[in-house]
Amino acid sequence: MTQSLIDPFQRPISYLRVSVTDRCDFRCVYCMSENMTFLPKKELLTLEELDRMCSTFVRLGVEKLRITGGEPLVRRDIMTFFRRMTRHLDSGALKELTLTTNGSQLERFAGDLYAAGVRRVNVSLDTLDEKKFADVTRWGRLPQVLRGLDAAQAAGLRVKLNAVALKGFNEDELFSMTEWCAERDMDLTWIEVMPMGDIGNEDRLDQYWKLTDLRARLAEQYTVTDLPERTGGPARYVRLEETGQKIGFITPLTHNFCESCNRVRLTCTGELFMCLGQEDNADLRAALRNHPDSDEPLEAAIRAAIALKPKGHDFDYSRQGVDGRVSRHMSHTGG
Ligand code: SAM
Ligand code: SF4
Repeated sequence: MTQSLIDPFQRPISYLRVSVTDRCDFRCVYCMSENMTFLPKKELLTLEELDRMCSTFVRLGVEKLRITGGEPLVRRDIMTFFRRMTRHLDSGALKELTLTTNGSQLERFAGDLYAAGVRRVNVSLDTLDEKKFADVTRWGRLPQVLRGLDAAQAAGLRVKLNAVALKGFNEDELFSMTEWCAERDMDLTWIEVMPMGDIGNEDRLDQYWKLTDLRARLAEQYTVTDLPERTGGPARYVRLEETGQKIGFITPLTHNFCESCNRVRLTCTGELFMCLGQEDNADLRAALRNHPDSDEPLEAAIRAAIALKPKGHDFDYSRQGVDGRVSRHMSHTGG
C-alpha cells in the first residue's frame, strides 16, 4: 500500500490547495498592484499536468482539493480540469473538491461546477457597497458577483463568503454583512490582511483590523459561542445564537495555528510551498515534465518536499513594522 504523507512534525498532509493561474480579472488593492506582470503561458502547468499533479497527491492521501488562483475561473477551459477530478470523487479517494473564487464567473460556471462534484464554494467579497467594491477590487463590478452568488445557490452550491477585514474600509459593514449573509443562509469568514507581495502604495499596518476587535464588536450585538470545529488551518469558528449563523475568523497573525497544519500549496508553475508564510519551495514541475511516462520521480519529489515542511510561519505585526513579510503575492501561491 502507498504510504501517506506525514511531515517531520507528524502532521498528516491531506489537503492540497492548487493555484491554477496567477491571472485575475480583478486587482484587489491588498492582493495585487494595478500593473501586474503575469507569467508567460509556457511556464504554467498544462491542464493535463495539473491533472497528473493532483492525481499523484490524491494517490498519496490528499483528500481535499481546493482550486484557487489568481482567479481560477478565468483560466481557459478550467471546467475540463474540474471534470477530470470528478473521477477521484467517484472513487472515494477524494472527499472534497472545492474552489475559492471572486465570483465574477460563477453565473456562467455554477451549474458545471455542481455537475463536476463541487458542493461548496468560497466567494471573496469584502463589501456590499457598489462604489466601495469598485474601489477595493479596482476592476470588479458588484452586480456581476451578486448574480454569480445567486447562480451558485440556485445550482445547489453551498456558499461561504470570505471578507478581508480592512480597517476604515468595511468596519462599518460588520453588522450589515452579517445580516445579509444570515438572510441568504451563507456562512461568513473574516480574514486578517497578510503581508504578502509588493502591492504599490498601500500600507499593511494601516489596513490591519484585528479580528479580536471585530469579534468583540460582534459580541456587543450577538451571543457569540465558540465552536470546537477545526479545519487544520488558520480558521476558527463561532456561532451567532440569534441567527444560528457560523462566522469564521482566519487569523494567521493573532493566533498560531501551525501545530495542526495539514496543507500544502501548489502554484500554477508547479512549485510546492510547504508553508504559506515561508519562501521555501520545491520544484515539482521538473520531476513531472522530465518523466512523462512515470509518476515515481514526482512521488519521490513530493515526499522529499514534505520532509522539509517547516514548523510554522513568522508573520508578525506586533512590533512597529511588518515582520516576516514574504515577497510573493497571494495570487501566486493561491490564498
Ligand atoms: N481570486 C480568488 C478570490 O479572490 O477568492 C482566489 C484567489 S485570492 C488570492 C484568495 C483569497 O486571498 C481571497 O479571499 C483574498 O481576499 C485573499 N487575499 C489576497 N491577498 C490577501 C492578503 N494580502 N491578506 C489576506 N488575504 C488576502
Ligand atoms: Fe484577484 Fe482574488 Fe487577488 Fe482579488 S484577491 S486580485 S480577486 S486573486
